[in-house]
Amino acid sequence: MYIVQIASECAPVIKAGGLGDVVYGLSRELETREHCVEIILPKYDCMRYDHIWGLHDAYMNLWVPWYGAAIHCSVYCGWVHGRVCFFIEPHSQDNFFNRGCYYGCDDDNMRFAFFSKAALEFLLRSNKRPDVIHCHDWQTGLIPPLLFEIYKYHGMEYQRVCYTIHNFKHQGIAGADALRATGLNQEAYYFQYDKLRDNFNPFALNLMKGGIVYANAITTVSPNHAWEARSTDVGCGLGHTLHLHQDRFSGVLNGIDYDFWNPEIDRYIPCKYTKETFEDKAKNKKALRERLLLRDVDKPIVAYIGRLDNQKGVHLVHHAIYYALDRGAQFVLLGSATEPGINAHFQHEKRFLNDNPDVHLELGFNEELSHLIYAGADMIVVPSNYEPCGLTQMIGLKYGTVPIVRGVGGLVNTVFDRDYDENVPQEKRNGYVFYDTDYLAIESAMDRAIGLWHYYPDEFQKLAIQGMEYDYSWKNPGEEYVKIYDWIRHHW
Ligand code: ADP
Repeated sequence: MYIVQIASECAPVIKAGGLGDVVYGLSRELETREHCVEIILPKYDCMRYDHIWGLHDAYMNLWVPWYGAAIHCSVYCGWVHGRVCFFIEPHSQDNFFNRGCYYGCDDDNMRFAFFSKAALEFLLRSNKRPDVIHCHDWQTGLIPPLLFEIYKYHGMEYQRVCYTIHNFKHQGIAGADALRATGLNQEAYYFQYDKLRDNFNPFALNLMKGGIVYANAITTVSPNHAWEARSTDVGCGLGHTLHLHQDRFSGVLNGIDYDFWNPEIDRYIPCKYTKETFEDKAKNKKALRERLLLRDVDKPIVAYIGRLDNQKGVHLVHHAIYYALDRGAQFVLLGSATEPGINAHFQHEKRFLNDNPDVHLELGFNEELSHLIYAGADMIVVPSNYEPCGLTQMIGLKYGTVPIVRGVGGLVNTVFDRDYDENVPQEKRNGYVFYDTDYLAIESAMDRAIGLWHYYPDEFQKLAIQGMEYDYSWKNPGEEYVKIYDWIRHHW
């Protein structure tokens, strides 16, 4: 199959979050299955050019229709760790992608509406006719409407689209400008409820809704999140739209890259280990303590790694620190906060706990340290308010670090409670799950985990090894996406 991914990120060259990892990881998996994959991205000024090999001209004279005129673009091609990527560079006064950032501009809607239009125009003009176009998140939500309302009539009638939503919180709320600029026009038509009209604001367009309404298949990043998005407020107003299109909507769990996250080969950890040599994990624990100046005592280390924001349940992260200390455990936190209030709060906590030899708060982003924490900690807490998929629990499992998670989103699909999950046999259970957002809920789960570590160490080790046996690589998600691609190719 010939698949083109169109996205605003692809790790490691353009990465703001999990979207970049998925675009790269899925593309690589598809290629190992002998499908042909190309990736179309904006050419941002601030992307990591050092991760692109052999950047060269691919299509220098692309004219993209825009507001009845056209913007001249150049398209470059290069390899990002083996993946073929095309980068679109518009030459206009708008400077769409020369802003020193990926997102966060006032005209983000128009920047990515332009990108969507340009990507399709590039496919059309360069005679690329993929079997499947796979686009991602609100930034490319206009691709399905543009394909089926315009490009289909210009020689792209056989292309099919899979649209993946990574985060329902950002939907791309735009005005009628987006229609006029991209040539969709016909305001009265697109401002209907069953087309692109926002479900909350009748005077606005919702680009993500456009993707849902027009795509041949819609996915989100875990089966449980697919259910939540359709049936609860997690869909941020799109629940009814998803419900109407549920026959085309499903959840496919993300994978993680085991070439990078794997204690057997991890170059960032001092002592590599497998489930057969699990006792070597203790050497990493020792190294972690030395690095963070924690005292070497007979206590478990509980960790938190992740953004510090409301999505991640920061009030419970804060509580977990003190509860772990109270219950005879040590705590390590690695996190960064963009919101000033949350940042100030954790800076204060860091100062307050500075002299405590059982806790370390590292505020900032540190990839290398994160590997040592995954390898050295005994447990990892993930108390998210919502979590479309979640990677830290899956990485924790691979490193034999027992996850303690809130039962939401993808956490439900990946972590199975040692004591209570009756749907999973005892020998397949791999962590602890709590559901409520109050302190008692997380306390009870932490209590069970820390208690097992202290009083039944063999049982705790067995649980950690059971976690290591799970395969959360891209293998299964790759297979599921191929099935979806096959389905849309043959049913539409
Ligand atoms: P998000 O909602 O941020 O995408 P995920 O759990 O899906 O959350 O992915 C988080 C990824 O980012 C993991 O690979 C985690 O190790 C990494 N990460 C998060 N915060 C930090 C940090 N402060 N330093 C290093 N890595 C981090």
